[in-house]
Amino acid sequence: MRNVVAGNWKSNKLLHEAREWMAVMEGWLQNNRGVDVMVAMPAPYLAACATDAPLGLHVLAQNVSAESFGAHTGEFTADMLKSSGVSGAIVGHSERRSRFGDSDSVVAAKVDALMAADLTAVFCCGETLQQRESGRAEDIVLKQLQAGILRIPVDQITQIIVAYEPVWAIGTGVTATSDEAQEMHASIRGWLSEAFGAEVAARIPLLYGGSCNPSNASELFAQKDINGGLIGGASLDPKSFQSVIQGHPALNS
Ligand code: PEP
Repeated sequence: MRNVVAGNWKSNKLLHEAREWMAVMEGWLQNNRGVDVMVAMPAPYLAACATDAPLGLHVLAQNVSAESFGAHTGEFTADMLKSSGVSGAIVGHSERRSRFGDSDSVVAAKVDALMAADLTAVFCCGETLQQRESGRAEDIVLKQLQAGILRIPVDQITQIIVAYEPVWAIGTGVTATSDEAQEMHASIRGWLSEAFGAEVAARIPLLYGGSCNPSNASELFAQKDINGGLIGGASLDPKSFQSVIQGHPALNS
């Protein structure tokens, strides 16, 4: 199983701060193997930081165009990311779904664009508080998966990383309990098994995201179907990001 911890800086940091962050990570990464470490940076820094990234750090985008080359002012394509040394992109993050028009079909087109360029897609799914309280959390998440990745050919599906991010836990300081998170991850793994076969499903990393931090990471990452995390606020400070990664059982075995 591939273990992954990915940071998501959102719209934070200036370029010199991104470089300082990478410098703090460099030596630490050399001594801490066993987890794939990724960071999703603001678009303007991608080419420079992907070129200069220390060994063991994969640079991701936070978005990608659903389009390919053409007259799409302001968009950047998956091929552009690839030619800049970027490993992949986050797609379907709830902030983009709710505020920037990333519907299920737009998200699906972005996934397809990444697959065609042979890049990784960190596919986010998750329910709102209202959906959870009305007992529809699993249904919502599985529908997002169905719309986003069901049609991916089985030989490409391991380019997908699934991040379960309950919307009510993102940036709120409220984390899903490890039981709640494990329960949803088990449902996702079950859905992946039915869609792509158990052997393939077991190889797809499932990340938990939503106010994961140094004090709760180890309990979350210890769950059977949680292979790592997607980390927002706690990834901004490299020392706190390192503490989160350090919570992974793969670094402590
Ligand atoms: C995120 O936005 O992907 C996220 C998990 O944020 P936070 O860790 O700040 O809740």
